[in-house]
Amino acid sequence: MKNLLELYGTVLDLQAALALLEFDQQTAMPSGAETGRSAQMAALSGVIHREMTSGKLRRALEKCEKAPYPEDSFEKAVCRQLRRKLDRAAQIPGKLVKNLTMATASAHSAWLKARESADYSILAPELERIIALKQQYAALFSGFECAYDALLDEYEPGMSSAEVERIFAPLAAEQTQIVREAAQIPAEPLPGGSYSKAAQLAISSKVAKAMGYDFKHGRIDLTEHPFTTNIGLQDVRITTAVHRDLPVSCLLSTVHECGHALYEQGIAPQYHRTVLGDGVSYAFHESQSRLWENLVGRSRAFWEWLYPEYQKRFKQLASVPAEQFFRAVNRVQFSEIRTEADEATYNLHILVRFELEKELFSGKLAPRELRDAWNGKMEKFLGITPRNDRYGVLQDIHWPLGDFGYFPTYALGNLIASQIWEAAETLMPELEQNIGAGNFKPLREFLREKVHRHGARYTREQLLKQICGAESISARPFLNYLRKKYTVA
Ligand code: ZN
Repeated sequence: MKNLLELYGTVLDLQAALALLEFDQQTAMPSGAETGRSAQMAALSGVIHREMTSGKLRRALEKCEKAPYPEDSFEKAVCRQLRRKLDRAAQIPGKLVKNLTMATASAHSAWLKARESADYSILAPELERIIALKQQYAALFSGFECAYDALLDEYEPGMSSAEVERIFAPLAAEQTQIVREAAQIPAEPLPGGSYSKAAQLAISSKVAKAMGYDFKHGRIDLTEHPFTTNIGLQDVRITTAVHRDLPVSCLLSTVHECGHALYEQGIAPQYHRTVLGDGVSYAFHESQSRLWENLVGRSRAFWEWLYPEYQKRFKQLASVPAEQFFRAVNRVQFSEIRTEADEATYNLHILVRFELEKELFSGKLAPRELRDAWNGKMEKFLGITPRNDRYGVLQDIHWPLGDFGYFPTYALGNLIASQIWEAAETLMPELEQNIGAGNFKPLREFLREKVHRHGARYTREQLLKQICGAESISARPFLNYLRKKYTVA
């Protein structure tokens, strides 16, 4: 096992170095350095792929798999996770990787052009190529009901589209009904104007600190699209974005990324530099960010704590009553853009994408017909038709990048967040009171104890069972939460 851990530890070191190159590219690299940086990153990716598929690593794993470790041991968990990763890496022929890289690079520039002229037909042929390659890619993996399931499995291990359908089943009807009611709650927009950048960043840092983000092992930088990255688990960084007219957006982006970062910073040191030093799955990771962003960051208690400081920092809000501000932060409406959707409508945007992805990969839908299909699904789930393709089928970067099967994890993350929240409320009756006092320590410790410290030691189902006794992901706690929040206000 020692040999296996050391060999894979080196892979993780190389991945951390690659993450740092990427991070620098997004935050500080001068624009003229693009070509050189791409070459450096491609070279390092090649080295990582070589190490991942080396005979040495495979043999070391096989040896450990034969050893009589107990079923629930650290060693068994390492073998399980590593087997999955090595099999994935070994299945993919270099030529397909290269073709996909070229196709997505070309699709990315086509996507930018298509967005500019709000015309999907510019992207359509590129997307057709990517989907054909992804079909080839999916066909490499056996044991799946359909091609789409092989893609989904990459983000959400062991999750099939039939299972996702079962979990999502109550969402469409019930969420739509809740949203219709919630949209009736009057909400005036906040005063416009320029909200100080320095004040936005100061408040974001203050809240991150209060949440328990460890600045000794992390930092906050600025990017257009916020993200979290780790350069090894001793260095977990987040970024945020400042919009001068939307101060809450900067704050809640920070809170969201901080939720991701707390997960990684909370992983037990004995899992660092091992294959278990990671989240359980994409959905589980997202549950941590959404829990902080929505269940904490959009709650009444949270704003009771923070709003006085907000009013002090932003003179525009001096005469805005707390209740008006709270309603503005929680305004619910059917809208076109997923990333700007409120917590009550967000999952409906995911249903649109989930259905389209399944149809694209079952051959039911041709990529050139995607725009009309998109508009049809938007009408079906949200009752609106996007004003043009930019606000419709062209809004997300995922498909041009070849990321099919990713979207469902966002909604699954929302559902898991509510399941965990229910357990937290039961165990900590004073949860709301603590949040209202800006005391996030009990919640953070609860999450660290129940979720974070375990890294990828357990499967999604094992962990859910340990946290809340549930057999699988369920939409019920989420729907209960929405109903409680939006139908009594
Ligand atoms: Zn996220």
